Amino acid sequence: MKIIVLPGDGIGPETMAATVEVLEAASRRFSLGLELIPDEAGHDSLARHGATVTDALLDKVKSADGLMLGPMATYDFKDESKGEINPSKFFRKSLDLYANIRPARTYKGMAARLGEFDLVVVRENTEGFYSDRNIESGSSEMLITPDVAISLRRITRQCCERIARSAFELARTRNKHVTIVHKANVLKIADGMFIDICHEVGRDFPDVSIDDFIVDAMMAHVVRAPQRFDVIVTTNMFGDILSDLTAELSGSLGLGGSLNAGDRYAMGQAAHGSAPDIAGRNIANPFSLVLSAAMLLNWYGQKNQKPSFLAAAKAIFDAVAAAIESGEATRDVGGKLGTRETGAALAQRLSAI
Ligand code: ATP
Ligand code: MG
Repeated sequence: MKIIVLPGDGIGPETMAATVEVLEAASRRFSLGLELIPDEAGHDSLARHGATVTDALLDKVKSADGLMLGPMATYDFKDESKGEINPSKFFRKSLDLYANIRPARTYKGMAARLGEFDLVVVRENTEGFYSDRNIESGSSEMLITPDVAISLRRITRQCCERIARSAFELARTRNKHVTIVHKANVLKIADGMFIDICHEVGRDFPDVSIDDFIVDAMMAHVVRAPQRFDVIVTTNMFGDILSDLTAELSGSLGLGGSLNAGDRYAMGQAAHGSAPDIAGRNIANPFSLVLSAAMLLNWYGQKNQKPSFLAAAKAIFDAVAAAIESGEATRDVGGKLGTRETGAALAQRLSAI
């Protein structure tokens, strides 16, 4: 399996170095034959090649089997005509990575504020309220007069169907329950379509139970009793907001792994940003990126029916849980180690299985 590795900004180079060390250990232990190919995107690429993502890089990514993207500091990426496109947005769009899968769970050894839970938010990643995803050329936000702005939200049958299918298939591998989150009481047409199609797709999965919540009430339910949820499927913006809440409820943003997946490509990416306040200090938690990498291995193993990749992914998930329980982790999750030492200890743990 060929993986293009883009370390990113802020804490990215540190957490990606730890992740690469863990992937290399997994590759040796499970004979995966991983080829990790470093490249660059974002600020360095903009300075050197005039674009945050070059056409040549997109071609390389398309001919590889997967992508690991580090966090990007995007505050000064404003003018896309000058090549300043946000690489995260760019890859999600150009590789059609429609499912943003964001697990959130608690671990033994950490103080769980709300008791133990284990859920996954499946967020639609290609349409909805985010104007950059709606129309091929340009934005669906507009300034009608200097004082009136309009944002359009697009929901399509095709995108509802494929995100619903992703959620139900995932639920089948877990606790066989899907919760649909929507605002169909107000957005009757668009969210009405989303919820109807989710139920329609659900009929192909009679072994999976379904319920649905209005997004505002959902915020209360997920804080009150996160353990009642298994897989949560929702549209782009609701999923963006809800998954930050669930990541934080699980104990640390540094545990927020995620996968952006389409039918052909997938990209592992931590759910948080570049955390410039702690960059370069060897204290960032690498587990968010390590877990994202394990999700990428799992995706590849399922797609190509390769049991060794599924086993490697499971071993990484288990090793992270064991590392947290025994305190071989960074401070944000109760450990005492630095980023580098945490990565090295996890790699060691995998080699010793
Ligand atoms: P960006 O502008 O790139 O989004 P940000 O300033 O919004 O960066 P985030 O990365 O979104 O910062 O994270 C918010 C805070 O959460 C950080 O300031 C940091 O303290 C903490 N944090 C985020 N990721 C990690 C991590 N991997 N390990 C430890 N702490 C983290
Ligand atoms: Mg941020």
